[in-house]
Amino acid sequence: MVRLLFIPKLLIITITALPAQNLSAARERMIQQQLINRGIRSRAVLDAMRKVERHRFVPAGLQHEAYNDYPLPIGEGQTISQPYIVAFMTEALNLKPTDKVLEIGTGSGYQAAVLAEICREVYTIEIAESLGLRAQQILKELGYTRVHVRIADGYYGWPEAAPFDAIIVTCSPANVPKPLEEQLAEGGRMIIPVGEDHVQELVLITRQNGKLKRQHRLPVRFVPMRSPGGRRY
Ligand code: SAH
Repeated sequence: MVRLLFIPKLLIITITALPAQNLSAARERMIQQQLINRGIRSRAVLDAMRKVERHRFVPAGLQHEAYNDYPLPIGEGQTISQPYIVAFMTEALNLKPTDKVLEIGTGSGYQAAVLAEICREVYTIEIAESLGLRAQQILKELGYTRVHVRIADGYYGWPEAAPFDAIIVTCSPANVPKPLEEQLAEGGRMIIPVGEDHVQELVLITRQNGKLKRQHRLPVRFVPMRSPGGRRY
């Protein structure tokens, strides 16, 4: 009888109290298998994703899945992107340590933390208040003082802090929002998933000599960019 009770208890302990070394081993495997083996080359991006503890940004019950090769739910029907997509988009921005970056769609705050490991200042906008507040809290706990979170409609960008050297959009509008194009600095880069509900393309937009150039990079599927009234942009 005692044995029978003991076994399930042991199991519960191994499932709930995830040893830190397991998570850091899982993170290292993610770097090698999901990122390096698939062609992510930027030293800055790999170092940032090695450093940021992704499991801190996912709901407690899903921490053991934080380093797996798929997106995870973060509440409010939203998701934290698959690690490869975070790496791919960050690498596409070709960031410098002096850059000031704007993110639309803070979600869990994970992408913002990765950006903050690489560049000077991160401005990030989330429309869902509960997510924005939670992200702000965890980013503060982890000491990311150079990440500024705003709860607002990201379609209009952050004009007071513009222009931005880079813009990353992690929710999908049907077309590139004009205000975001306008807030891109000369020489700036924007990565954005554009398209309909199920078919989207990651588009890289660069501003050179005042002109915007577009390159299609990868088919993807992101949650839609929405207005405060819930309409899809
Ligand atoms: N980058 C996030 C994942 C974002 S998921 C991370 O690292 O976890 C996309 C997010 O975009 C959702 O949280 C959603 O609420 C938000 N979003 C949707 N429309 C928006 C808008 N108009 N402005 C700002 N955020 C928006």
